[in-house]
Amino acid sequence: MPSVLITGASRGIGRATALAFAKAGWWVAANYNNSMEEALSLVEEIKAMGGTAIAIKCDVSDHDACASMVKQAKDAFGHIDAMINNAGISCDMLFTDTTPEDWRRTFAINTDGAYNCCHAVLGDMIARKKGAIVNVSSIWGVTGGSCEVAYSASKAALIGLTKALAKEMGPSNIRVNCVAPGVISTDMNRNLSPADLQALSDETPLCRIGTPEEIAETILFLASEMSSFITGAVLGVNGGLLI
Ligand code: NAP
Repeated sequence: MPSVLITGASRGIGRATALAFAKAGWWVAANYNNSMEEALSLVEEIKAMGGTAIAIKCDVSDHDACASMVKQAKDAFGHIDAMINNAGISCDMLFTDTTPEDWRRTFAINTDGAYNCCHAVLGDMIARKKGAIVNVSSIWGVTGGSCEVAYSASKAALIGLTKALAKEMGPSNIRVNCVAPGVISTDMNRNLSPADLQALSDETPLCRIGTPEEIAETILFLASEMSSFITGAVLGVNGGLLI
């Protein structure tokens, strides 16, 4: 069976992604950091569906911990076919209020986290000449978001990582792609008021915000053989908010 390691799988987009891969028959290693109960209930849900899943605690900003997480997933499944770098945090504030600690923490999780996991997983993928990496960026990494400078910059860096790594890994038959979601209904947006959400829906040609499942299906597509000739892509999934 193909196997996948998904960071930030305890909640939101990562959780929906774990369920989508499990439904498609993949073995799932679901990473979490703080939300242990949610991660364990996800594993139970997948097992109840007849699937295979394990939960692995790891703070993706910790390089050595990511190496250990990848080893745990490989020990459980034998190999990792797809690495999904989804874990992320927002940083909503005026740029002039952003402290060096805010800036570093945002990059440590959103950008270094993907570096750490790619670094840990690629040795085996190169040896097997097989693998797919999907990074979860953001529409704001493409356009820039006001009052989200650190977040936007960290997500733009993921796009650069995706493109460069796709060029370097292509000859090893490893594809590296990126999803850039628009506004999606998860905890990350719970600070938005109903009026803010309505305004964002009104700006979106499809007249609504997106669901975690819609991002999950795109990630599954980019990790699967359905997208076997796609690499270095930044796929916007935003209901037309950016055209
Ligand atoms: P969410 O509901 O807040 O979930 C965030 C996930 O990231 C949680 O599972 C959390 O795990 C994990 N995480 C945070 N820090 C971590 C760390 N240091 N190590 C490991 N895991 C960590 O957010 P979401 O909306 O699903 O976001 C998922 C990804 O999509 C993020 O990269 C986000 O930037 C991106 N995105 C979201 C939207 C949106 O509108 N929601 C739009 C564009 C892009 P624990 O709870 O276990 O700590």
